[in-house]
Amino acid sequence: MKVAIIGGGVAGIAAAYALLADKRVTAVHLLEATGRYGGRARTDTASIPGFAFDKGAQCIQDPTRNPLTEIAKKLGFETVEEDAGYRLRVETEDGWKTLPTTEPAIQAIVDEIQASFNENSQKPNVIVAGKPRRTDAAELFGHATSTYGPFTESAETWQTIAADRAREAEGDGANNLLVTKGIGSLVAAWGQKLRPTSGSSYIEHFGAVVSRIVYDDDKVTLTYDSQRLTVDACIVTVPVSVLGNGSIVFEPPLPDTHRNALKVLRLGSYKKLALRLRTPPADIVPGTHYYLAEDDPPGVWQYYRLPYADDVLIAHAAGDFAAALDGLPDSEVFKLFKTRIQTACDGVFFTTGRALTNWSNEPAARGAYSYSAFIGGGPDDPDALRARNALTVPVKRLYFAGEATDPACYGTLQAAYFSGERAAQAVLADVHASCAAFDRAATVAR
Ligand SMILES: Cc1cc2nc3c(=O)[nH]c(=O)nc-3n(C[C@H](O)[C@H](O)[C@H](O)COP(=O)(O)OP(=O)(O)OC[C@H]3O[C@@H](n4cnc5c(N)ncnc54)[C@H](O)[C@@H]3O)c2cc1C
Repeated sequence: MKVAIIGGGVAGIAAAYALLADKRVTAVHLLEATGRYGGRARTDTASIPGFAFDKGAQCIQDPTRNPLTEIAKKLGFETVEEDAGYRLRVETEDGWKTLPTTEPAIQAIVDEIQASFNENSQKPNVIVAGKPRRTDAAELFGHATSTYGPFTESAETWQTIAADRAREAEGDGANNLLVTKGIGSLVAAWGQKLRPTSGSSYIEHFGAVVSRIVYDDDKVTLTYDSQRLTVDACIVTVPVSVLGNGSIVFEPPLPDTHRNALKVLRLGSYKKLALRLRTPPADIVPGTHYYLAEDDPPGVWQYYRLPYADDVLIAHAAGDFAAALDGLPDSEVFKLFKTRIQTACDGVFFTTGRALTNWSNEPAARGAYSYSAFIGGGPDDPDALRARNALTVPVKRLYFAGEATDPACYGTLQAAYFSGERAAQAVLADVHASCAAFDRAATVAR
């Protein structure tokens, strides 16, 4: 049996390992648009010498049950527990102060969002919480610090449906793990082991942008660049934003269930920048994450120094704020953040070495991670909530995987991993069932 996998992120790599473990699989072709493994797990080691900047995923969440914990151990990647505290950096009548995130005005907004979530998650199709009436600092901070806000969801509370979030699996309670050499480096190393582990039955194609998929009951033919590949089954792991924007043509078109799911499942925005510090600023304690409001475009920065790389200042933006920043030239984004941080904190001076992300404009990603968008319909309309599961239903010999297809922990590395394994098992079960049926028919004919 010959299988193709489109996408060399965590889902694609996990699917490849699962397929290659089955002796009946004779060839696995992995087609990846870029020149490397990792997808949205990508480490930049060049922009700030000596520092591994994770442009996408950064934390191994739920480490006691996340397969990447074991993979890091096996491949010899050092991990460090993230034990971060969270604070606000706010301007008061007495100057700039660092305050707890539980300040009463902020906590009131967080509680309001929580109450709205509790109520709205009982219905299939209602937003998490309303849009702020004003964009004053308390509301911005309240939305930023809420666990239903953009820093968790990559979308705003009024863009995403509560019931999707409500079915997420409980966390394991353990601290996240950071990978000192970068999670992107870890995932790339794991992908690069496929070939030495599996020999000639594994064929990797880098720079292979799949643009057309023709499928029927028996075969799938992929077009990438000007080449064609025909296989018995294909696992598609590209982000839902890429599937939804029509850059891959399906023949015949995907069924309505899948096309409707792709209208709902979207990727939100999440932006990161990193700058090398000239001297360690006393106002920014390593291991503490600070929230700082921005006026124009309105939003909230989250900034911090890592305990093991404290000469680098990292800043994150999320949701609509990140989307607005992704629309600006890089130089303006750096300028905006530098001006803001130097106003809010003393002794922040930078030296050479800086890096920035722009996931919204990456052709192979088109966003950060998935959310179930509120696209109208009544509160009981089940379509949006069905979207993640709808996408996992195979269409003839096509199987879909990727973080967005996992309702229990979407938007994470482990979701991608489990989805890849699930799709591989589905391929094996279906193809072997049809082979067995063929053998039975041949025996009867004899
Ligand atoms: C800024 C950011 C921060 C994050 N932080 C965390 C975190 O701390 N912890 C966590 O667990 N998760 C985090 N995530 C989410 C995590 O990165 C993703 O859930 C996960 O990497 C998705 O893996 P995937 O295999 O489903 O998709 P991807 O990694 O997107 O892989 C899909 C692959 O398909 C390829 N592709 C796209 N189009 C084509 C085409 N036409 N032909 C061929 N190949 C194509 C892409 O190049 C890509 O390599 C973060 C994501 C971002 C962006």
